[in-house]
Amino acid sequence: MRTQVGIVGAGPAGLVLSHLLAARGIESVVLEDRSRAYVEQRVRAGVLEHPTVELLRQHGLTERLDREALVHRGVQIAIDGRRHRIDFADLTGKWITVYGQQEVVKDLIAARLATGAPILFEVEDVRVADVVTARPAVEFVHEGEPVRLACDVIAGCDGFHGICRPSIPPSELQVHDREHPFAWLGVLAKAAPTTEELIYSRHERGFALYSMRSPEVTRLYLQVPPDEDIAEWSDDRIWTELTMRLPTTDGFELLDGPVIEKSITGMRSFVVAPMRYGRLVLAGDAAHIVPPTGAKGMNLAIADVSVLADAVEHLERTGDESKLDAYSATCAQRVWRVQQFSWWMTSMLHRFPEHDGFQRQLQHAELSFVVHSRAAATALAENYVGLPFGRLYPEEAP
Ligand SMILES: Cc1cc2nc3c(=O)[nH]c(=O)nc-3n(C[C@H](O)[C@H](O)[C@H](O)COP(=O)(O)OP(=O)(O)OC[C@H]3O[C@@H](n4cnc5c(N)ncnc54)[C@H](O)[C@@H]3O)c2cc1C
Repeated sequence: MRTQVGIVGAGPAGLVLSHLLAARGIESVVLEDRSRAYVEQRVRAGVLEHPTVELLRQHGLTERLDREALVHRGVQIAIDGRRHRIDFADLTGKWITVYGQQEVVKDLIAARLATGAPILFEVEDVRVADVVTARPAVEFVHEGEPVRLACDVIAGCDGFHGICRPSIPPSELQVHDREHPFAWLGVLAKAAPTTEELIYSRHERGFALYSMRSPEVTRLYLQVPPDEDIAEWSDDRIWTELTMRLPTTDGFELLDGPVIEKSITGMRSFVVAPMRYGRLVLAGDAAHIVPPTGAKGMNLAIADVSVLADAVEHLERTGDESKLDAYSATCAQRVWRVQQFSWWMTSMLHRFPEHDGFQRQLQHAELSFVVHSRAAATALAENYVGLPFGRLYPEEAP
């Protein structure tokens, strides 16, 4: 089997890349080790930045999103029970779109299969070979048969636990890894949202986030210890804790309802560099993880592949690898900007076990300034709605 780009992983990074390449006349094969039903139902992120939606729209991928997604022109921050609003539209002229990652994935899969382009689900034993040559290959088993997919470039879009990053010799990679002293208990509930915007709540008992996925479904998060056992969290306990941490004395009503899904996700900041080894290129969670407080993971994955598509197009048209050479450094500016923003949001809003009264007062002072100063609120808003895709600071040497 032969194609121009072998894409490992049918998450947001791999699927968006396949569409960006197709728009440039470049063939690809997407390989996914899970079933189509599994990836279409996997509940994860839900906030799309302004540039993410613009990119999808430019490629004709927003037909259902434009009908069903929720547009949020601001966000609310509750400090110990009192709400404050950050008005994105006023501060930046931009906004965010709330649409579940699984809905994005469904739309991207349907649009690709409609063109007859391949996505192979439930592939097994995926391996990359000959990556330091100009003819790398992905080897895998499909429907019981071994397959060798020869290509020009392999895009490792297989997430944090995939096989692509571990295929690169550790001596070639610089790794930054930080685990945070808390996790998020995430809940999807069949309960109508009662506000039009997300509420980020800083509370002495720990952080809580009120968000939504549709007019019928709320998405709720609670900060919990990193080793928390989900079995300890009955639905009743979840609603009681949310009632305590969310600003329910401030005219806000928390409607409860059946819990459809709940899970605990650890909090991590992780970056590897470079995001390329020979003709194997990493994108999205395969190369970096951010704590979800800034709602950036999926958006950063899509920003990576917008750079990668241009680099691959240049290689395919000219045979020149210079844009592929610059790929990692081009992405790095955004990766670290997003790391910093995600860490800043996390550090302002969570309760840290090691913090003493002094540190808690500093945290409170910073958050209060953000909600009261137009300049500080603008910095939050500008990052939250998303900085323009492409190289952030073109004048800075790679
Ligand atoms: C549990 C969880 C909850 C999250 N919640 C939020 C949130 O609330 N807000 C937020 O902003 N971000 C959230 N994120 C982050 C966000 O979902 C990710 O940043 C985003 O999915 C990155 O997209 P990706 O395409 O790079 O990776 P992924 O979405 O992980 O896609 C990788 C794909 O590769 C496939 N794959 C893996 N190994 C192989 C293999 N060997 N062969 C073939 N295919 C393979 C996987 O099945 C998957 O489909 C969450 C992440 C997780 C894990």
